[in-house]
Amino acid sequence: MRSQDHDRIYLSPPHLGRHELNYLHKAIEDNWVAPAGPNLAGFERDICEFTGAEHCVALTSGTAAIHLGLKLLGVGPGDEVLCPSFTFVATANPILYLGARPVFIDSEAETWNLCPERLREAIEDRMRLGRRPKALIIVHLYGMPCKLREILAVAAEFDIPVLEDAAEALGSRYDGQPLGTFGAVGVFSFNGNKILTTSAGGALVTRNAAWDTKVRFWATQSKDPAPYYQHSEIGYNYRLSNLLAGIGRGQMELLEDRVKRRREIYGWYQQHLAEIPALSLGPTEPAGGRSNRWLTCVLLAPTQTIVAPEPLRLHLETRNIESRPLWKPLHLQPLFADAPMYGGAVCTNLFDQGLCLPSGTAMTESDLRRVADALKEITSAEQT
Ligand SMILES: *Cc1c(COP(=O)(O)O)cnc(C)c1O
Repeated sequence: MRSQDHDRIYLSPPHLGRHELNYLHKAIEDNWVAPAGPNLAGFERDICEFTGAEHCVALTSGTAAIHLGLKLLGVGPGDEVLCPSFTFVATANPILYLGARPVFIDSEAETWNLCPERLREAIEDRMRLGRRPKALIIVHLYGMPCKLREILAVAAEFDIPVLEDAAEALGSRYDGQPLGTFGAVGVFSFNGNKILTTSAGGALVTRNAAWDTKVRFWATQSKDPAPYYQHSEIGYNYRLSNLLAGIGRGQMELLEDRVKRRREIYGWYQQHLAEIPALSLGPTEPAGGRSNRWLTCVLLAPTQTIVAPEPLRLHLETRNIESRPLWKPLHLQPLFADAPMYGGAVCTNLFDQGLCLPSGTAMTESDLRRVADALKEITSAEQT
């Protein structure tokens, strides 16, 4: 009992099923231990089947997929790319890889994602300055669909192509359609903490067959068709290993289950934290949106409590429970100190008041109770 009490509860650890090992075994038996092989084609097919995407290329990471995706949209040196400030740095780093500049935009308070009104403001202002944005990156943070209808309408009005960073949103939907398939390019991540994992990995999806071919070319060192190694274009070593794709095949079988369980965990917290007035759960699903609830987050109401997110995180840590601040907005990062920013109060406020709770799909009822009890301890202790 005691030792179980002290087992660490992680934020979002990998959760493997029974079939990953079969795919790995087969790959090793058949000597497909390379960034080529049948698991890769199978994994890509699985992703297309689940999401309805027409083409999919499995890559070494979500970051690599964003890099090549922006390149497909023609982003190059000196260009400006619109991007939410409230996201993980991997959304924006590829803008810098290409010699382009990010222009950051605030969130709205419902989904916590890109604000459509601020987006319009930013586009109009950049155009006034004679800087037509080359591309727009949208993100579905914590699995929550952004306000796609409103955002895509603005992007279409100004004819700005959209890269959809669905790294956290595999299995989420909008009007019934899987996320990742709304942009000209969609990106998924299979890093260790995501809803499904290949340990490290990513994928790019698109409707454009020529783009699919181009990404495969770039991701394997841009080898010209010749019997020797000849290169006319810069290339990358971004292709996923056939071994990791095998893990991905096993994981894809579990996706519906994993989404169901993440949503249950969110529901459990919602029910059991309702009695703590200082805490509210978020973000909120927009009309038509269905989140995979990758991470359950709480916001502390400053009028209801003297506890800030950091003491709360440290208290959970004393109970051997991992939690994490919400993403620190990118316009507040030293790396992006010079980047333009439109708005900022909403995402700064989220960062100041929020915390991500353990949300792994292997969590048991008693794990969840431990988290809820620890939250109650500190939020009630302050009153005495
Ligand atoms: C994880 C993540 C990425 C990057 O994916 P990797 O596979 O870790 O490179 C990009 N954007 C967001 C929003 C992410 O959460």
